[in-house]
Amino acid sequence: MDLQEKLEILADSAKYDASCASSGSSRGGQGTGAAHQSGVCHSWTADGRCVSLLKILMTNECVYDCAYCVNRRTNDSPKAILTPDEIAGLTFEFYKRNYIEGLFLSSGIIVSPDRTMELMLEAVRKLRKTFHFNGYVHLKVIPGADQALIDQAGLWADRVSVNIELPSDKSLRLLAPGKTKDTVLRPMNRLAQQIAAHKDERRSIKTSPAYAPAGQSTQLIIGATPETDREIIKLSEALYGKMALKRVYYSAFVPVMKDSRLPALREPPLLREHRLYQADWLLRFYGFTADELLDEAHPQLDLAFDPKTIWALNNLDKFPLEVNKAPYEEILRVPGIGVTSAKRILRARRAGPLKLEDLKKLGVVMKRAVYFVTAGGKYGGLKKESGDAIKLKLLEHKNPNGQLNLFGGEQAAKEGAEAAATGQL
Ligand code: SF4
Repeated sequence: MDLQEKLEILADSAKYDASCASSGSSRGGQGTGAAHQSGVCHSWTADGRCVSLLKILMTNECVYDCAYCVNRRTNDSPKAILTPDEIAGLTFEFYKRNYIEGLFLSSGIIVSPDRTMELMLEAVRKLRKTFHFNGYVHLKVIPGADQALIDQAGLWADRVSVNIELPSDKSLRLLAPGKTKDTVLRPMNRLAQQIAAHKDERRSIKTSPAYAPAGQSTQLIIGATPETDREIIKLSEALYGKMALKRVYYSAFVPVMKDSRLPALREPPLLREHRLYQADWLLRFYGFTADELLDEAHPQLDLAFDPKTIWALNNLDKFPLEVNKAPYEEILRVPGIGVTSAKRILRARRAGPLKLEDLKKLGVVMKRAVYFVTAGGKYGGLKKESGDAIKLKLLEHKNPNGQLNLFGGEQAAKEGAEAAATGQL
């Protein structure tokens, strides 16, 4: 098998890993340039730059048999393996040709977690030492690998990640019998300790080596097992708090394998994945706790509305807020006002009182915020506000003709595009 064939197999096998979010597309036709079906993804460096990465597996062979995975031992698909020299050489060649700026390297498990980790580390070490490559590297850490190997990962890579995949030990035992909660959480914990220790050391000794400067992340598969959104978001909250994770990625379960242990889904639950990303955003940037967003009686995120709107509708006694007086933390909780517009409101009101008409110019999405704010005592929402009446109005804006599709790829994409354009949740 030549290198090109190996690369096609291994780049294709890597595409289900969401912790490196975007892959290429196929546009067909002839002309200059090629949008490969997979193989290039984008990520953010520690200083916030977006970089394109060669996204590959070292091998798609695996001694484990996770029910949901195309690379599982019992799936009879074409297998390939790259040597450390091939990985380092390919990455450097692609970098020189300006195709990519870095590497995202993951792998199935060959022989044992230790052997797999040794080979991956060797590839990255060669890239750094032999090719003097100083670009971005995201390295997957293999659950169950020896601590000494885990410790090396952060010395060579900018970002490290251990995929939890399934949100509970019970689900891991059911669908990923080779893994346990302990084999996944132990390396995460160790990486968190090492990142913190190296950061401390660099404060006093500037020349000490950087250790995973872009931090660590993980990925959770959504919808393959029965955990509720509340359980998932509480797990993420704990990971951000206890392990100082930079990101938790949520990956809607893609039913690519037939297995009686898997749920019979027609399509990946993309709208649910989107809502989890929104809830996660609220934890990280808006000061919400998991318990504020979901409780025992309401353990699932609403698919029709984003979690911030649902929180506001459940807490109407806290609204409307007077934008000329309310503190930043409360303004941030208004649907339609994001971090940027909340800061703009605070700056603008120092110059003089704000009117409702001013808010749109500050980036506020008034079709949502109007029910939750006053400006100079003026209110532009409904005369007698009730949660249900506001919901109806918001639904009219959101979806004037259609019904909600519960899998919701289009809905998620539409909301994602709107949030990207306005920056407001
Ligand atoms: S260990 Fe990873 S590569 Fe192997 S079957 Fe499980 S999910 Fe797939």
